[in-house]
Amino acid sequence: MKRVYIETYGCQMNVADTEVILGLLGREGYAATDDPGAADVMLVNTCAVRDRAEQRVIGRLGELQRYKRPGVVLGVVGCMAQRLGPTLLEQAPYVDLVIGPDGYRALPELIEGARGGARAAETTFKAWEHYEDIPLERTGRVGAFVTVQRGCDYRCTFCIVPMTRGPERSRRLADVLTEVRRLAAETVTEVTLLGQTVNSYHDGEHDFAELLRAVGAVPGIRRVRFTSPYPTDFTDRVVAAMAEVPAVCEHVHLPAQSGSSRVLKRMGRRYTRERYLECVARLRQAIPEIAITTDLIVGFPGETETDFARTESLVREVGFDGAFTFKYSPREGTGALRLPDAIPDEVAGERLERLIETVRAVARQRNMRLVGSTHEVLVEKLAKRGGLLQTRTRTNKVVLVDGPTDSIGSYLDVRLTGTTGSTFTGVPVPVPVGRELAIWR
Ligand code: SF4
Repeated sequence: MKRVYIETYGCQMNVADTEVILGLLGREGYAATDDPGAADVMLVNTCAVRDRAEQRVIGRLGELQRYKRPGVVLGVVGCMAQRLGPTLLEQAPYVDLVIGPDGYRALPELIEGARGGARAAETTFKAWEHYEDIPLERTGRVGAFVTVQRGCDYRCTFCIVPMTRGPERSRRLADVLTEVRRLAAETVTEVTLLGQTVNSYHDGEHDFAELLRAVGAVPGIRRVRFTSPYPTDFTDRVVAAMAEVPAVCEHVHLPAQSGSSRVLKRMGRRYTRERYLECVARLRQAIPEIAITTDLIVGFPGETETDFARTESLVREVGFDGAFTFKYSPREGTGALRLPDAIPDEVAGERLERLIETVRAVARQRNMRLVGSTHEVLVEKLAKRGGLLQTRTRTNKVVLVDGPTDSIGSYLDVRLTGTTGSTFTGVPVPVPVGRELAIWR
């Protein structure tokens, strides 16, 4: 049997695409391996959002070339492959093939070609491509990612994604439901709907609110999550669906990027600080217990100390449960490259440190208040340390619990006993009479 080794970098979209690639190559008789030394094909599924991620991939490709024997193929796929295309073949002479996110169907052909010594790049956008007929090969998570939308039509000036993932397109609701029903039949109980601006989903007939209601109604699906939404696409219909569908979890990852309306405008975001806060208020009014996390960028061109203070104050005002914080990374081909007033790296670095402190302090304060409360958790996997189980609340809080590994995939009720500020410890509590069967499957 032929073996394929894949390393995946970047966002959940890439994790989902790796499942497409494994499914596609599975049809060609390939099995996945964790050992690059045993592989006939080595692929690196890449991210292009930050320069550092790309540099890491270049370094990793250099390491992987050590495993190349005659007939072994080394390929780069994903967003960095799309961005660099054939130039990557020039930069890295040991790379045989380069394929962007819309080109995976060409993999078997390009692999065969590479065996015969050909080197090729496939980076054409295909606005119809959803890989609908490819049987996904899931990579062993308890929950499943379900891509409902590909590409992005927004033009945030810092973002390379529209250049790497092409035009926005939504899958037909009926096709999404077929996939979710199949997952439920395989005993998957939690699905995360993926899209670059997922709540702008529209298949021509159905909007995101209808999608949430339909997915939430699939028998066996207990939890529905989605990422990443765009603030101004939270219509009243979507918020109502979130509040009314029991399976939709009480967590939203709501990228703010900045707390300064002036910077948001330069970023090409379609909202002001006030509009963002209004969105938060509507979500909290409809779903009072909702946890909100975000993405924040510091050091965007022209960001003044006052702008930065607005971002810090947004963190306090919203009371984020957590945030991914980044230093702005200039990307070739994006609008922000033309903006004046670049921020020196040391200034951006210092702001980033302060922001991380602020985010941590706010999250810790919120999390401390939860200690002592009881939550339903899904047991996900063995935690990295201490022989404990990693579990997750509906609000996306990680709780470490002592318990048997055969409970992975089950639901428990746990009382939170402590927190590091971000992660919790918890103990199982007796399950209310009559819920045993629903909880222990
Ligand atoms: S919405 Fe903006 S930040 Fe998000 S993928 Fe599209 S361009 Fe990038």
